[in-house]
Amino acid sequence: MKRRVFLTRAAAGAAAGAVAAPAIAQSQPQIHWRLASSFPKSLDTLYGAAELLVKRVAQATAGKFQIRLFAGGEIVPGLQVLDAVQNGTVECGHTAPYYYIGKDPAFAFATALPFGLNARQQNAWMYYGGGMRAMADLFAEYGCIQFPGGNTGAQMGGWYRKEIQSVEDLKGLKMRIGGLGGQVLARLGVVPQQIAGGEIYQALERGTIDAVEWVGPYDDEKLGFHKVARYYYYPGWWEGGPQLSLIVNLKKWAELPEAYRGVFEAACAESNVHMLARYDAGNPAALRRVVGGGAQLRVFPRPVLEACLDAANELYAELSAKSAHFKRIFEGWSRFRADQFLWFRVAESAYDNFVFQSATRRPAKK
Ligand code: CA
Repeated sequence: MKRRVFLTRAAAGAAAGAVAAPAIAQSQPQIHWRLASSFPKSLDTLYGAAELLVKRVAQATAGKFQIRLFAGGEIVPGLQVLDAVQNGTVECGHTAPYYYIGKDPAFAFATALPFGLNARQQNAWMYYGGGMRAMADLFAEYGCIQFPGGNTGAQMGGWYRKEIQSVEDLKGLKMRIGGLGGQVLARLGVVPQQIAGGEIYQALERGTIDAVEWVGPYDDEKLGFHKVARYYYYPGWWEGGPQLSLIVNLKKWAELPEAYRGVFEAACAESNVHMLARYDAGNPAALRRVVGGGAQLRVFPRPVLEACLDAANELYAELSAKSAHFKRIFEGWSRFRADQFLWFRVAESAYDNFVFQSATRRPAKK
């Protein structure tokens, strides 16, 4: 092969490519979408993930694909984002799918199940453990498709006016709690309430509720819960690694040029990484501040955790009997969870247990 001929052709090809790229960009249509978030602007980690997404999509398409972002309640109530995307009021939304467990309990798998996966395990399940496929079949029935778009990491167990020293102390407690955690606690006497982020403080202040869980120190401090409840419990066993999702109307998704679909998916993945990083970076200082402000940290007593675990397992058996989607997804998810827990008990858990606690350790005597 004549090297010179090859190089000439390659150069011509490269030049043609350089010319063709802007031509392709110009041939892409201008598209305007609307995105309804479930969250108020004040919660900059949650709302911020959607802000990052719309910014990146516009940037990567040279401004051709514009998505206008609306905070929770602006055009759609925070807990009705799925409905709005399904009926085409908006093309896409950013929400916690477990807000829709009233439609089908299987929506919880796209956020969190009590005693379920941590943030890394949730990503592993979604991207490589069959989670995307499993959820696609459910969301398609609602005319939507979902993509992971954020995670808070393990949450706190919430704010309580009185201490929880035994299972007995849960009886009659009116508590704002998201997802299936409320159904587990209901079996132990709690009266769960699902209230959108922007409305919780008032409910707690007015005494409509006795306890509240939201996310963790970074958000909870902003919402001011430490001013109206003293005891701050952990861990939030119902949300070991809750995921937020970008959901898109399937018809609109199909109409989108393939290049824009690629950009959108990449931006979702970026939002997914950034939300978790932002929480992890912000939580330590916020925890110090709320404790400095008088919050009393408490760990849930082991008998309470064990009673909740038993109640969760009973609930899963019931939900599997009620929802074909739940049964189908739970089987694969359970196997995946068992494998993850086995692996995380080895290197991850040994590392975390030693290193996190050694921060307060004195040097060994020689
Ligand atoms: Ca929560």
